[in-house]
Amino acid sequence: MPVSAANPATASNPRVVIIGAGASGLAMGINLLKAGNANFRIYEKAERCGGTWRENTYPNVACDVFSPSYAYSFEPNPEWGWRFARGEEIQRYLERCERKYGLQPYIEYNCEIDSARWDGQQWQIRTKDGREDRADALVCAVGALHHPRFPEIPGFGSFAGPAFHTAQWDHSVDIRNQRVGIIGTGSTAAQVVPGIVDKAGTIALFQRTAQWVLPFPDKKYSEAFKARRRKYKWLARLHHWFDLQLFQKVFTGAVRGKKLQLWMVTREVKKSLASIRDPELKQKMTPPYPPACKRLVIAQDFYPAIQKDNVEIIGDDIDSIVPEGIKLKNGRVVELDVLVYSTGFWPYKISIDIIGNQGLHLNERFEGSPLTYRTIGVPGFPNFFTLFGPYSPIGNNSIIENSELQIGYVMRCLELIQSGRVRSLDPKLEVAQRLKEEMRQGMQGTVWASGCQSWYLDANGDPIVYPFGLEQFTHEMREPQLDEFIVA
Ligand code: NAP
Repeated sequence: MPVSAANPATASNPRVVIIGAGASGLAMGINLLKAGNANFRIYEKAERCGGTWRENTYPNVACDVFSPSYAYSFEPNPEWGWRFARGEEIQRYLERCERKYGLQPYIEYNCEIDSARWDGQQWQIRTKDGREDRADALVCAVGALHHPRFPEIPGFGSFAGPAFHTAQWDHSVDIRNQRVGIIGTGSTAAQVVPGIVDKAGTIALFQRTAQWVLPFPDKKYSEAFKARRRKYKWLARLHHWFDLQLFQKVFTGAVRGKKLQLWMVTREVKKSLASIRDPELKQKMTPPYPPACKRLVIAQDFYPAIQKDNVEIIGDDIDSIVPEGIKLKNGRVVELDVLVYSTGFWPYKISIDIIGNQGLHLNERFEGSPLTYRTIGVPGFPNFFTLFGPYSPIGNNSIIENSELQIGYVMRCLELIQSGRVRSLDPKLEVAQRLKEEMRQGMQGTVWASGCQSWYLDANGDPIVYPFGLEQFTHEMREPQLDEFIVA
């Protein structure tokens, strides 16, 4: 059953299919409309847009980069209520953008793509409910962290009470006065714990590895401040720009091993750790690796929350999950009423079967140690573009900014297709391999390679992160280099 072309397609506009209506997918659609190309379709498996911010509704969910920089460059948001925007206000912002830019007619909701196959000319797309579409270019905007990862612990599934992942928070479960167990102490758990500490009876936080925590102060924006930003658009733009610079200069510099920035971050996280009053707890919360090796946890309320009387940090190894709770290797059984998995995600996992040249499946390229071309393409997959795919710049900066840079690159590739200069662009394998090796070399000296376990690492222990900083990335995204592609 072919999808009806309800959009005003013109012959000269390449048809584009976008997978996912999260922050990146929406921005891609808006950019196409701005460029006069209405010949596209966004497929979204859920009933609403928003991606991460639609799915993650756990208590106290918020963005941990400054809100003014967590907005599209073309749509600064004067309405942010907090320095670290709450999940629901980001969701509202994205839904507002979807309406304002007239994207709704271009989005197929509740429609999950099952497979996409390059037939030598175009992408042939099939949805799970049997619909078909075709596209000159396929843009994958499914997000980096989207498939919840459950721990491989013996007895998984045997807990007698409610148990769920933070990305699938079960709001029907009343945690008031309950004994809540949380496995994992990443950025998510650091938000959940303060979010429920005054409601839950007790919290048992199972910590395998302590994290460095930067208690950057949050701030509520006053109505007068919002009104000023609404009235003077330049003020919102300036704020957007300033916060981007601040995050880039401090955090990107720190993770890339810039001495001053790393010293500043290290000093702050150590100062915050030193503020824990109980020496035994302080010892437990001391990470065994250098600051920022794992993604920095930015939370001002985490350390105060774990020092409340009803919270216990359990650093002993877990033996198994049992119907009553969690059994530790030392024999103790921690009895629980509710169990929460805050155990992160399968990074860059794509559940769609994407098949490129010669029957190559995308997952073969992504498995173990992913191979991409300049973060936006994959050799063997012509006219296939990933937004925020493996090796994209990450590390406590705004992913919206990264996506916009990548979208700029994709738009320039589409212009080449539209102009008739090229029909398809397939990144050369040897170029992608060379660039990957350059990135591997570039990782040396960054904190990601300083010896810790994190979702930043591939199966070889190499970071799947862009190591050269945003300035170079911006430069790379400026213009497609045709000699790096097999051009048809
Ligand atoms: P995460 O950083 O991957 O943390 C997972 C936690 O689960 C770690 O503490 C890990 O321990 C623990 N864990 C995993 N398997 C375990 C097992 N079998 N037994 C015991 N512990 C286990 O996941 P996350 O906290 O959900 O954060 C993921 C990413 O989401 C972040 O890095 C960030 O990029 C993003 N995030 C962003 C925001 C935001 O505000 N923008 C908020 C939340 C999350 P180990 O450390 O020992 O592996």
